[in-house]
Amino acid sequence: MKDIKNFDLKELQGYMLSIGEKPFRAKEIFHAIYKEKQKDFTDITTLPKNLRQKLSEEFYIYALEKVSETNSHDGATKYLFQLRDGLLIETALIRESNKFGRKWNTLCLSTEVGCSLDCQFCATGQMGLIRNLDASEIIEQLMFVDNNIPINNIVFMGMGEPLLNYENVKKSIEILTDTEGRAFGKRKITISTSGIIDKIYRLADQIKMVNLAVSLHAADQTTRDKLMPNLKENPISKLKEALQYYIEKTGNAVTIEYLLIKNVNDSVENALKLVKLISSLKPCKVNLIHFNKVPFAEFSPSQREIEFQKLLLEKNIRATLRKSKGTDISAACGQLVTRNLTNVAKN
Ligand code: SF4
Repeated sequence: MKDIKNFDLKELQGYMLSIGEKPFRAKEIFHAIYKEKQKDFTDITTLPKNLRQKLSEEFYIYALEKVSETNSHDGATKYLFQLRDGLLIETALIRESNKFGRKWNTLCLSTEVGCSLDCQFCATGQMGLIRNLDASEIIEQLMFVDNNIPINNIVFMGMGEPLLNYENVKKSIEILTDTEGRAFGKRKITISTSGIIDKIYRLADQIKMVNLAVSLHAADQTTRDKLMPNLKENPISKLKEALQYYIEKTGNAVTIEYLLIKNVNDSVENALKLVKLISSLKPCKVNLIHFNKVPFAEFSPSQREIEFQKLLLEKNIRATLRKSKGTDISAACGQLVTRNLTNVAKN
């Protein structure tokens, strides 16, 4: 049995031809799964009965099982999902609103079980990489939540480094944005990467319209190596060139994510180094992120968040201070982890 959500429209049309069906059936299936949110082939009554039967024998539509759902006092929700092989992933829903009463929902999707990059402030990194998610497992996180709660934005910022699972992330975006299906706007999608240089070039050339955020966290190589030791082959100087290319090629702004950690990267000198590094990157903005304590790391939140932001603003760098949501349920940046639970599931 295969997951039908791993097939993009073209592949599904090819499959239809291979079994002697008309290719337009693929559009009907896309419509039924992604627009009508059908969960069972037998309910797709636009298809002839014999085709429904064949599809039921060869494919499944839904595979994720929700293990738990935890709600934060600030409106964030963390979902724990079990994959078909028993492994577990987490997905975070952030409910936001502004002073004008506008509300929107952002879903933070996982792309890997664990992560190979071992960033020193991140709980997921402590798990190591267990495996990449396939496109259907990425897509289904959205479909599951979207069934009840309308999702306005997607951020590839959950467990894992999305650009180290490039092909599956790309395919999931192609399927989710297909106008015959869910038709999610590319402008509503953000890929958040730790800075995988060769894939940033590919992203600029191939996926284009999505937003790009880069977790920099330090503007000098020594501090970055300390915080993100497995990214030494993606040095800051080359990363800057890749971002310049991305901006020129797509016309999109790049967001620099900067976690403020006490006595590590929050001094005046650190701020000035950041200004020097990014002032020629235009358009570009900086998200300063409050550090969320994780049990294994000795780092502490910075006491200089406002001062740091002020310094950037004075140098004409657009900088916002992002308040983390879901910290009380470990759903905020760097807190997603399923290692212990994964072991339970495997045993
Ligand atoms: S911060 Fe992102 S890239 Fe770094 S270990 Fe965590 S999940 Fe991986």
